[in-house]
Amino acid sequence: MLQEQEAHAAAMERTFIAIKPDGVQRGLISEIVSRFERKGFKLVAIKIVVPSKGFAEKHYHDLKERPFFNGLCDFLSSGPVIAMVWEGEGVIKYGRKLIGATDPQKSEPGTIRGDLAVVVGRNIIHGSDGPETAKDEINLWFKPDELVSYTSNSEKWLYGDN
Ligand code: UDP
Ligand code: MG
Repeated sequence: MLQEQEAHAAAMERTFIAIKPDGVQRGLISEIVSRFERKGFKLVAIKIVVPSKGFAEKHYHDLKERPFFNGLCDFLSSGPVIAMVWEGEGVIKYGRKLIGATDPQKSEPGTIRGDLAVVVGRNIIHGSDGPETAKDEINLWFKPDELVSYTSNSEKWLYGDN
């Protein structure tokens, strides 16, 4: 049992998820939160914020050579964003599956972008694409004391305890 608990702790991951201004304005906050929550992932941080253009440029620094970079950063800083950290086994990779492909035209039905968005420039949600970016993005958007570690009642039912 101890070994399983250790394996569970080692597999536990955190990822950064943001509902972009289009998702907030379209009233999709609860829909998106609910998809992560019902799956069994645990919310450990959440806030509403209007990022500055400079902050958006930091968040998307990897894309600064791309032609859409300026418009993307203008858009991210155009209104309220819901910034979140979600925790769970495999949440970084599976969070991207819940979100769907970058271009909603190519996202499968059943995914957030597939069900709720139409074009790539208004694809409503961001999710970290790997362990390194998850760490960097969580550190960019949140101070350590904004992350809440707790045991959820449902954990033993989600992961088992024997
Ligand atoms: N984007 C865009 N045009 C493109 C590709 C991307 O406007 O041709 C935007 C889109 O909003 C996307 C964001 O840039 O979500 C970041 O791009 P990335 O390739 O990192 O996609 P993601 O990780 O969000 O799926
Ligand atoms: Mg990305």
